[in-house]
Amino acid sequence: MKIEEVKSTAKTQRISAHSHIKGLGLDENGNAISVAAGLVGQEMAREAAGIVVDMIRSKKMAGRAVLLAGPPGTGKTAIALAIAQELGNKVPFCPMVGSEVFSTEIKKTEVLMENFRRAIGLRIKETKEVYEGEVTELTPSETENPMGGYGKTVSHVIIGLKTAKGTKQLKLDPSIYESLQKEKVEVGDVIYIEANSGAVKRQGRSDTFATEFDLEAEEYVPLPKGDVHKKKEVIQDVTLHDLDVANARPQGGQDILSMMGQLMKPKKTEITDKLRKEINKVVNRYIDQGIAELVPGVLFIDEVHMLDIETFTYLHRALESAIAPIVIFATNRGRCSIRGTEDIVSPHGIPLDLLDRLLIIRTLPYSRPEMEQILRLRATTEGIQVDEEALSHLSEIGTRTTLRYAVQLLTPASLTAKVNGRNAIAKEDIQEVGDLFLDAKASAKILSQNKEKYMK
Ligand code: ATP
Repeated sequence: MKIEEVKSTAKTQRISAHSHIKGLGLDENGNAISVAAGLVGQEMAREAAGIVVDMIRSKKMAGRAVLLAGPPGTGKTAIALAIAQELGNKVPFCPMVGSEVFSTEIKKTEVLMENFRRAIGLRIKETKEVYEGEVTELTPSETENPMGGYGKTVSHVIIGLKTAKGTKQLKLDPSIYESLQKEKVEVGDVIYIEANSGAVKRQGRSDTFATEFDLEAEEYVPLPKGDVHKKKEVIQDVTLHDLDVANARPQGGQDILSMMGQLMKPKKTEITDKLRKEINKVVNRYIDQGIAELVPGVLFIDEVHMLDIETFTYLHRALESAIAPIVIFATNRGRCSIRGTEDIVSPHGIPLDLLDRLLIIRTLPYSRPEMEQILRLRATTEGIQVDEEALSHLSEIGTRTTLRYAVQLLTPASLTAKVNGRNAIAKEDIQEVGDLFLDAKASAKILSQNKEKYMK
């Protein structure tokens, strides 16, 4: 088993707030560089996290987990994500909140197991037939929106592809156009198109196009059959959860997920323990044959005190299984009672036997200059300009409320700035949106002052 790179396909929206974070930002001796890899301050916690990364790499974390303990908005999620990134840029990172396990429809342990499997990656090596060539032409063909709305829709896209056998003009499905734009494919780039699925990749980029289109569909000119094409080793990164889903709802088709979705016969329609066991069996065979490699990622469980004794027991056992992700818990609670017990009080609401296995890392509140630095980073990442006075005012708000609240004011403030004819956010814009949107403390205060006006 080897730790390598894999990307989780799920829950990206929750991670996007942390898109500026690229790693722990430590030097070669494991000391935190005050501002590096998108992280600011919180040096002790980052250094401790660095040691955890070393332990994971040297396989000393089996059966153990990490707990990040600190007030809200002190970068616990940010550090957990940075740990995953230190392990490789495609290591899955699956964030969840403790309370998620309490659903009316799904069993608690089922929710946990699903997230466990989202946090375990599988890197599959595949040899595919591809058409490879230089793009000589890229013309989307636009038609008026058939629904009569604004704008135009792309009906198909013409791609000129110069291969060893000469230049071909291909008329392809419009769904590919978005992907081409996303990957910033331009004339002159070398791309390759998978012979079976039609998925396109740009050379030198690791991202796979998710979009597939039907090469055999009549309106579109199929890729030239019998033309010379190369065999290429294609690496696919999926999670065990992706495989579960693909097998529970097999689609047919030739791409890797559909193929992996036909591992099992007879077909199942829901993810069951049995299906997972069968998938594990096949996956293990692939690993033995050297076709696939397991990539344990990070499962981040925020507000761990929301879990109850039953889920703790289940987790404890799951941590010891042969295929387990690194589990990182986070909490802002001190001593509290363990959910589901008759008031057994323990530190962070975690049972003592599990607590015994945790490496606990503390996070501390940020200073105002640190907050200013983080806000500056977020503004740059979001492409928002902020003048110095506004930034200073915003970080003052952050120290009074929370970092998260301050970060969240950036987008509305930039809209206000635009309305007021400014390119960069000014102090007035911050004041304006600060008055419009309440932070949690202010909101609670107003509610309690006006209790009688609200329903109970
Ligand atoms: P917690 O999990 O402790 O509540 P968090 O990591 O979720 O904290 P937020 O309160 O959501 O942090 O922080 C708001 C923003 O600030 C996020 O974009 C987060 O990535 C960023 N951030 C937090 N801590 C740091 C840090 N030390 N360096 C850089 N960015 C940070």
